[in-house]
This record gives sequence, C-alpha cells and structure tokens, in this order.
Amino acid sequence: MTVGKNCADMTTHREPLDSVLETVGETPLVRVHAAPDEVPVYAKLESFNPGASIKDRIGTYMLERMLEAGTISPGGTVIEPTAGNTGIGFAVAAGQLDVNAVFVVPERFSVEKQQLMRALGAEVVNTPSEDGMGRAIERAHELAAELDDAVVPQQFSNPLNAEAHYATTGPEVFDALDGEVGAVVAGMGTGGTLMGMADYARDRGSAARIVGVQPEGSTYGDLFGEDAEEGEYKTEGIGTHDVSTNELVDPAKLDDLKTIPDRAVHEEMARLAREEGQLVASSAAANSLAAIEVAEEIRQGAVDAPYDSVVTVFADSSERYLSKGVYRSFEEWTG
Ligand code: PMP
Repeated sequence: MTVGKNCADMTTHREPLDSVLETVGETPLVRVHAAPDEVPVYAKLESFNPGASIKDRIGTYMLERMLEAGTISPGGTVIEPTAGNTGIGFAVAAGQLDVNAVFVVPERFSVEKQQLMRALGAEVVNTPSEDGMGRAIERAHELAAELDDAVVPQQFSNPLNAEAHYATTGPEVFDALDGEVGAVVAGMGTGGTLMGMADYARDRGSAARIVGVQPEGSTYGDLFGEDAEEGEYKTEGIGTHDVSTNELVDPAKLDDLKTIPDRAVHEEMARLAREEGQLVASSAAANSLAAIEVAEEIRQGAVDAPYDSVVTVFADSSERYLSKGVYRSFEEWTG
C-alpha cells in the first residue's frame, strides 16, 4: 500500500446523477488481508449501496422488472416478509418508483433496520420471533389479499431475486478480476446472491467453485441429506431453520457448504474492524472466514479451482447492529 495513492478517486470527477437508484451496484471489490498471499480473497463492499446493503440490488431490480411486466402498477403496494435489509432495499426503490411499501418483520431483527424502513416511508408489521420467517411470509400474503394492486415479491421463491445478482453482482465481480475467479463464497439467506452468481459463472463458462455459507444452527445441510442439528444463532441475514422455505437454493449448484459458529463470527467482526478497517456485520464476518478457509484449501491443492482467487460479499455494515452489542463481549452480543 502506498501512502498518497489511496485517494486516487479524489481526482476523478463523477457525473452528476438524477436518482439515488443510479447509485445501486458497482460497489468496490477489496482484498481481505488475512487470507493467504498466494490465493487472494476479495470482498464486495455492499454497504456502498444507497440503502447500505446488498439488498438494494434486488429492491431496485425486482421492482423495475415487476413494473415493466405490469405485475404491479405505480400507486400499488409491495408487501414483503423480510429480515430488514430487503425491506430497506425495496423501500428505497419504492419511494422513487411511486410504489407503496409494507414489510412484515419477525420482532427479533435489528430495530435500526425497522427504523430505516419507516424513515423511507414504508409501513412495518411485526410478527412474533418464535413463529419464524414462515409466519412472516403467511402474514404478508394475508395483508396482500386485503388490498387492491398489492404484490408480494417473495424474495425466497422469486427467480428475479437471483436474476438481480446474475445481472449485476456476478458480472461486476468477474469483470473486475478479468474472469479469473477461483471460487465464489457467499452466505445464504434466500440464496439469491449465491445462486445468481453461480448461474452467471456457469453461463460465462467459468468453473469457479461455488460455496455456500451458513451459521452453526442453520439447517441448509438438510439439502444434502444430512440431518442437520437445528440451533439458535446470532449471525443475522443468513441461514435457515426450514429449507422448504428457501426455494431458490439448488444444492446441485453448490460445491461445498461452510458452517461458521457465532463465536468465530464475533471474533472476525472485531478483527475485520481492527486490522482491515472494515466496519462490517456478522454475515460478512462469516463470509470472510469461509472465504479464507476456501483460499487455504485452494492453496493446499485440497480442492479443484480454476484460479488462485476467492471472491465473497460483505452484505452490510456493523453500524446497523451496534445496539445489539456486536463489538461488546461475546456474552453481551449473544445474551
Ligand atoms: N447478509 C445479510 C446481512 C442479509 O440481510 C442477507 C439477506 N437476508 C444476506 C446476507 C443473504 O443474502 P441472500 O438472501 O441473497 O442469500
């Protein structure tokens, strides 16, 4: 790193833009320095999006496609069950595209995210945490049935979710590395990010390894015939307790699934901040550890990968979770 060369963009004048939606995507791809030198790991910094997470991509992409297709009209209402970031992504887009937004959020999710959705003009409806995402999905459909011109995009089953990443995240990453991607590693909430990037990789003729990431306690292992042990976890935005709701995830597209415990995630969040200047949240820390593990496997020749590089995503920022004690002790975070 050369001091003085790190602010090259200060001399690059960007064109003025008409809408905040034009700032979605084209996020920076930055090296993770804890990975082995021989197999660099790069992370896509998704907090650079206007709603500060990866979900701005699907909010804008899905809403624009649905308006084009007439699935929803201006003045209509989008109703989505969401852990939060998807709500913010849809709320940013809905506000600019003359669509109303209602979000159904299980109570346990971050209050900051719910406040931001409301600030963007959306309505938030809570469901009990113990009823899980399944109940939030049901409630969204109940609300949609009560309104005219309301649509539930349903990020857990809507192919447009993965398509948003096929159209944006995938090409951005592969172009940045001139196609020389050895592995794509990403946490799976809906699985849209990873499935979209996997489809893009294959259509581009890439043999990059495709690796999913989940927190310990999540049951994505069920897709591989494992009788995965279900448990609670604090890592937010990834994992599942019922694979039947994660309709986009096709296990045939995965080369591996990494499972990361909360304790390691907690340490990695602190390390990323202290050593790499990365104020990123728990799913990013899980992705970082999994990506470093994959890089190590490639370095040792333990797995096949077409190139010595690994890419992952840092989906959002830790600022959104400060009230949850992400930088306090492990006991305070998980307590
Ligand atoms: N990280 C965070 C913080 C998220 O909110 C999400 C979305 N739930 C993900 C990762 C996972 O993204 P996807 O739904 O595309 O699998």
